[in-house]
This record gives sequence, C-alpha cells and structure tokens, in this order.
Amino acid sequence: MGLARALLLKGSESSWLAGQLSRRRFVRRATRRFMPGERMEDALEAAGVLSVAGISSILTLLGENVDDAEAAAAVTREYEALLARSAEAGLDSDISVKPTHLGLDVSHDIAAHNLGRLATAASANGRLVAVDMEATRYCDPTLELYRVLRAEHANVGVCLQSYLYRTSTDLAELLALSPMIRLVKGAYKEPPEVAYPKKADVDDSYLRLSERLLEAARDGTARIAFGTHDAAMIAEINRRAAAMKCPREAYEFQMLYGIQRGLQEHLAGTGYRMRVLISYGAYWFPWYMRRLAERPANVGFVLRSMLKG
Ligand SMILES: Cc1cc2nc3c(=O)[nH]c(=O)nc-3n(C[C@H](O)[C@H](O)[C@H](O)COP(=O)(O)OP(=O)(O)OC[C@H]3O[C@@H](n4cnc5c(N)ncnc54)[C@H](O)[C@@H]3O)c2cc1C
Repeated sequence: MGLARALLLKGSESSWLAGQLSRRRFVRRATRRFMPGERMEDALEAAGVLSVAGISSILTLLGENVDDAEAAAAVTREYEALLARSAEAGLDSDISVKPTHLGLDVSHDIAAHNLGRLATAASANGRLVAVDMEATRYCDPTLELYRVLRAEHANVGVCLQSYLYRTSTDLAELLALSPMIRLVKGAYKEPPEVAYPKKADVDDSYLRLSERLLEAARDGTARIAFGTHDAAMIAEINRRAAAMKCPREAYEFQMLYGIQRGLQEHLAGTGYRMRVLISYGAYWFPWYMRRLAERPANVGFVLRSMLKG
C-alpha cells in the first residue's frame, strides 16, 4: 500500500481530524466533487439529472458505527422516507446501506430487524437494498445478516471485496443462495494477513471473481454488479462477457457520483446498464477520506479549493 493511501486511510479513522476538517469551508466545498450536497433533496435532484442520461442510481445516507438502538432506528426511518420520496419522483433508485449504520455494533438482531424493514419498504416499489461491506471484522456478521435477510427477501444484495483472500470462498458459499452481488476492490485499511497488499494482486483477484460472477449471471443464478471505475477492467469484463455469451442486460456497472463521468455516460450510451451511487448527509468525513485514498491525486482538489479562499 502506498504511503499517501496509508496515511489517508489512517486519517479516515481519526475523530480529531474529522472534527477539525469537517468545519472548514474549503473542505466542505471540495466534497462537492463526490457528493451533490448534504440534504436528501440534493441526492434526489442529482438522481433526476442522471436519469436523463439513461443512468440509474443508488442512494445512500452517509454514516457508520452508530452505537445505540434509537440512532439506528432513526437511520432506518430516514431510509424509509428516502424510498418513499424517490418512488414519488419516479426515479429508478435503489438504496445502499452499511450494517453498522443500522445498528450492527449494538446487536445482530437490531441490524437484522432494521434491514428487514428496509427490504419490505423497498419491495413495495420494486426497489433493491444493497448491503455494503465494511472493514474485515464485519465480514462474517455482514454475511450472516445477508443470509438471514435473503431467506425472507428477494430484493437484497451484498457487496464483496476482491482485496480479501477469503472472498473466493465467500462467493462460492453465497452462490448457493441465488444472490445479488456487487463486486468491489475494497476501500478500507486491511493488514496483509487478510488482504492482498499489492494492487496488481487485487486486480487479478477482481478479474477471477468477475468471471465466476458473469457465469452465474449468464446462467440466471445470480444478479451481479461491478462497482469499479477502472476503465481497463471494465473493458476486459465486457470482452469476457461477450466471449462467454453473457448478455449486457445480465450485469450492471456501478460507479460513485462524480467519478469517471465520461465513462458512465459512454457505458450507458452503448447499451450497458449503469448505476451511480449518490451519497448525502452530514457525516461525510471518513467516507470522503476513503475517496481521497483511492486516488491521492484528488488531494489536489482540496488544495485548489483552499487556495480559492
Ligand atoms: C457503487 C460502489 C459501491 C462501493 N461499495 C463499497 C463497499 O461496500 N465496500 C468497500 O470496501 N468499498 C466499496 N466501494 C469502493 C471500492 O472498494 C473501491 O475503493 C473504489 O471503487 C476504487 O476502486 P476502483 O475499482 O474504482 O479501481 P482503482 O484501481 O482504485 O481505480 C481505477 C481508476 O479509477 C479512477 N478512480 C478510482 N477511484 C477514484 C477516485 N476516488 N477519484 C477519482 N478517480 C478514481 C482512477 O482513474 C483510477 O485510475 C464501492 C465502490 C462503488 C463504485
């Protein structure tokens, strides 16, 4: 892992830094590159703009690691309101949620209850609930939550990270559930005991896992999404999909708001399914630091915003 990435990921865990930087106007301004605004309305409006270009969306309220049941219930209510508002607006918008935002640190049962409520609310409008994958200590509890949820709801998905050694085994087990899976490379700071330290190995793992997902999608045993901005990886996935006769409609690409906009439009315009994850909310610091760590060159945007005064 590069030094800049390691430092940014370390910084993402610092509550002191969060307190200091979240108040600075230039930092708030720089976040606009990756999020349209802090309010629900900002996210809905951005989803409406994307839909004109044929791009669907996934909406997420920023936050993680809530430590009491009432806070987790409030987050659940916010997502219920979000689902209702996006349905009213006629948007093709799913939601993506973090288990620790819905109470996993408090108890498995609270998180399972809140996720169940959201799956029920989403299914009323034919929407999906994607469960994010957080740091590796949450991997087992998150997969357990997914199994419980999947037993009762068809409209739930889970995210897998190609940087973890374990993911190949997790995928094999999940495929028995006719799952919905989003494959990403992984955004957290993980030790070499559990995750590939070298980017080339993370990329190789991503391609190997993609191939298995494409086979499952082609055979109709899984619904799949590739959460990546990696243009070369996307081209290779499309090449392999065509070679194995997996139709374009059988899989989806997902990217984060504001990243690779040209590629998002190009994919949507050439018959691929494209969905953009739009984040909103006041709790953006750790999430924003992870975005900077993915591409330390983005720190330049923060510095330029600072110079603008
Ligand atoms: C829809 C979605 C959901 C996600 N959910 C999760 C999750 O639940 N758990 C999790 O651990 N991670 C999640 N991630 C983050 C993911 O793990 C990666 O950290 C992130 O996508 C960067 O990896 P990459 O595949 O884009 O490829 P990389 O190899 O990191 O980047 C490839 C290229 O993409 C561009 N790029 C990538 N990131 C940025 C950026 N921040 N700014 C500007 N350009 C960039 C650059 O051109 C770069 O060269 C999610 C990502 C997406 C798109």
